Amino acid sequence: MDFSLSDEQQQLRRTVREFAEGEIAPHVMEWDEASRFPSEIIPKLAEMGFLGVIFPEKYGGAGMGYVEYAIIIEELSRVDGSVGIIVAAHNSLCTNHIYKFGTEAQKQKYVAPLAQGKKLGCWSLTEPEAGSDAGGTRTVASKHNSSWVLNGAKTFTTNGHHADVCVAMAVTDAAKKHHGISAFIIEKGTPGFRPGKKENKLGLRASDTSEVVFTDCRVPAENLLGREGEGFVNSLQILDGGRISIASLGLGMAQGAYECSVRYAKQRKQFGKPISDFQAIQFKLADMATQIDAARLLTYRAAWLADRAIASGDRVSGFAAANPESSDAARITRESSMAKLYAGEVAVRVANEAVQIHGGYGFTKDYPAEKFYRDVKLCTIGEGTSEIQRLVIARQLLGK
Ligand SMILES: Cc1cc2nc3c(=O)[nH]c(=O)nc-3n(C[C@H](O)[C@H](O)[C@H](O)COP(=O)(O)OP(=O)(O)OC[C@H]3O[C@@H](n4cnc5c(N)ncnc54)[C@H](O)[C@@H]3O)c2cc1C
Repeated sequence: MDFSLSDEQQQLRRTVREFAEGEIAPHVMEWDEASRFPSEIIPKLAEMGFLGVIFPEKYGGAGMGYVEYAIIIEELSRVDGSVGIIVAAHNSLCTNHIYKFGTEAQKQKYVAPLAQGKKLGCWSLTEPEAGSDAGGTRTVASKHNSSWVLNGAKTFTTNGHHADVCVAMAVTDAAKKHHGISAFIIEKGTPGFRPGKKENKLGLRASDTSEVVFTDCRVPAENLLGREGEGFVNSLQILDGGRISIASLGLGMAQGAYECSVRYAKQRKQFGKPISDFQAIQFKLADMATQIDAARLLTYRAAWLADRAIASGDRVSGFAAANPESSDAARITRESSMAKLYAGEVAVRVANEAVQIHGGYGFTKDYPAEKFYRDVKLCTIGEGTSEIQRLVIARQLLGK
């Protein structure tokens, strides 16, 4: 067993870190305070290949794997979780859904510009009445000759206002329940399709989280994504990969919160010595570092499993093979959920301790601890809450 990253992966980490510290760090608080989407960073992310990480070069992607993807999201989020989630929703939700379940024509038309970062993507599953119970989708799509007409509204769509391409789930046959929900590709500017209310959020404020609304929105038949009725089931497979990205998001923010705590503890003096001399503070740092390490091992293991499944040809149907028992598919579902659950919870604990170590200054915007504290909470909610992760893990353990 070898836990070390390859030379290329270590170099990638250094490159992303340098990029994040140079291009993102100076603007983080300005974007956060104004709750402003960092449009200017998108072309730079594209140039670095970060908007097409997990897609082959033939579709304009960087041709990297999930371990590299985890490193990139982790390093971006170590500096700004908002940029981390923008990249995550674009890569592992929107683009990946088209890449995994799209036709060759759809891949040529959509994956290529998305992976090159010429276009930005969003992915809409959640609705006001269908969150954890995403199978309760109410948005409908009805067939009219050679097109589909969508009506309804999605909520909490990351990149909703800024995306050029939206993948959205809608009911096509209510009687078939979970097997009656289909996925569609909708392009910005399609009549009847518009972003709605932008959420005013606790954290990750520079990322855009919005409603998207469909009013008699007509898309051509070829914009059906995957098999009719399989959009919900495919979404669950997409979320296996998505959870690796949210685990990486939590991991990166936890790392950032830990590092600023170490810096502060060494520099802040009370009772005539740095607070890092107090065992109470040392124990906090030791616990933070240990938990982050455990979260990193779980996250990289899930990423490594995803890469192994792809290498062994499980790509066509998401990670799931025909016989889940004989493949890594069940393990990926369980272990990406474990990574997401643990890294998300650790991020919240670590950010909490980071504020505590900073004392009153941790409660101010003069230090980064405050922003990490707000931002990390998303990790126990987005792409399935911690409670839902536990249900997914338990289902796998009990063979249900
Ligand atoms: C910043 C942000 C970005 C997001 N981005 C996207 C996106 O790009 N695309 C998208 O489709 N969605 C997105 N979401 C939506 C996110 O996935 C949902 O918020 C999440 O799945 C929870 O749904 P909900 O908010 O409706 O909560 P609810 O499902 O109403 O849950 C409320 C509470 O009840 C608990 N609960 C619910 N059901 C059960 C159960 N069976 N057992 C035990 N407890 C349960 C939950 O764990 C939670 O604590 C985003 C959300 C946020 C906040």
